[in-house]
Amino acid sequence: MEKTRQVFLSGDEALAQGAYEAGLKVACSYPGTPATEILEYLAQFPEVDTQWSVNEKVAFEVALASAIAGLRSLYSSKHVGLNVAMDPLMTSAYTGVNAGFVAVTADDPGLHSSQNEQDNRLLAKIAKVPLLEPASPREAYEYIKIAFQISEDFDIPVLVRLTTRVAHTKENVTLGTRTEVDQKSFKVDIQKYVMVPGNAYKKHVALEKKLIQLQELSERSPLNRMELNDPALGIICDSVAYLYAKENFPNASYLKLGFTYPFPENKIREFAGKVRELVVIEELEPFIEEEVARLGLKAKAKHPSFRVGELRPEYIPDLIAQKEKTDQPAVTRQPVLCPGCSHQPVFSVLKKLGLTVTGDIGCYTLGALAPLSSLHTCLCMGSGITFFEGFKKALSQNVVGVIGDSTFVHTGIPGLINLAYNRTKGVIIILDNGTTAMTGSQNHPATGLTVKKEPTRKLSLESICASCGADNVDVISSYKVKELEELVAKRLAEDALTVIITRATCQIVLKREKRTNG
Ligand code: SF4
Repeated sequence: MEKTRQVFLSGDEALAQGAYEAGLKVACSYPGTPATEILEYLAQFPEVDTQWSVNEKVAFEVALASAIAGLRSLYSSKHVGLNVAMDPLMTSAYTGVNAGFVAVTADDPGLHSSQNEQDNRLLAKIAKVPLLEPASPREAYEYIKIAFQISEDFDIPVLVRLTTRVAHTKENVTLGTRTEVDQKSFKVDIQKYVMVPGNAYKKHVALEKKLIQLQELSERSPLNRMELNDPALGIICDSVAYLYAKENFPNASYLKLGFTYPFPENKIREFAGKVRELVVIEELEPFIEEEVARLGLKAKAKHPSFRVGELRPEYIPDLIAQKEKTDQPAVTRQPVLCPGCSHQPVFSVLKKLGLTVTGDIGCYTLGALAPLSSLHTCLCMGSGITFFEGFKKALSQNVVGVIGDSTFVHTGIPGLINLAYNRTKGVIIILDNGTTAMTGSQNHPATGLTVKKEPTRKLSLESICASCGADNVDVISSYKVKELEELVAKRLAEDALTVIITRATCQIVLKREKRTNG
């Protein structure tokens, strides 16, 4: 008899375990909270070819292409990462996938560590791909297997959406064994895989038909289940909203949606006919609520104030009563740079020089906070350099752009090429601490190590900056404050494009190395 093994896993880990057992062969990602641990967990398995890709677009395309070529593959990222991969996502539903391909988005309601709280359920509808939403780690483990099957049966990418609470909650999960799935043969099919307009048009027609079949599957799917209890109150919900609602109204009737798109319209209608009062409980956007309204069903709509921020169990009574959200987010401790962090001396220099600083995404975004208060913009990955160019068009010499090493490789390089190409002069600072620090110290091409910590070709930041067209590339220790101040002042006065690489290893990495080496 096969032995079962229970393990206490986070939602990310459970999803990764389920994907592994489903015969996953290739997994690609770029670090981003709350999705990072999916790839880190998968990296332990020799059967899975795992990679930190340079950015999410690259990750998505490598994983999708692996599926088209015949191997079950997975892409994972945080919600904003999927924006970077939108271009391939939007057309991948047209081409189809051949072997199973699942894209995982880990959304961050409440912005625990993100620049926005977009609701990626909407992207499934825009990209016309099926959407599965587990509410717990155990469901994440189960749903990912179903996602691969749907993907293969319907020849379509499947989007699986976690949220921070699902990704980082832990639960006992009973592990199974890995099923080896045979590689599918790749057949040359120009009409399927070459998306020129004539082929794409036909594929769009076929996709619309496929969505009708997927809706029929959604109607039958046990992931969309009715729990008929007291008919006085019927609640339609998805993801963690289901658990929060159950906590408050254990005796109500439920339609719990786990296969959220295409919507199971008939099941929604059937459920509405069985209850006296209908309510939709969901986090962020009125995604289900609008669908219910489109079906002509009368359901209580939540107050717009509930479209902002994370849902909490204690909010549910007010939400159902259609009251305005009164509770304010809990006062959180202000994040700070670690003691001895190499970003501190750099920002103290920039502050002393009175510079306007266009910033980017990483630990160094904290340079915006007092007492450093010397980072003045931060929009998205790569914008430290592109914002510098925009600011230079309006302001004088007193602007510098800053970006981290991992972020520079992610989307900073095109910005630097653009600066050189468009003859912009000035100073960009790459804060090189030898890791992707903010997400927990992951490797990237300029660290010379893979996700499995194996040595690989190391990208030289100096060489690539020169190749992108920088007139000068200086390298200096982040801790040499006086020399750095003189260098920045000197380069600012020149009519040249300069990249200054300030280099010093992240304190967390140093501590980890010390522990490992004794
Ligand atoms: S993790 Fe590293 S980069 Fe981030 S604040 Fe700490 S020392 Fe600085």
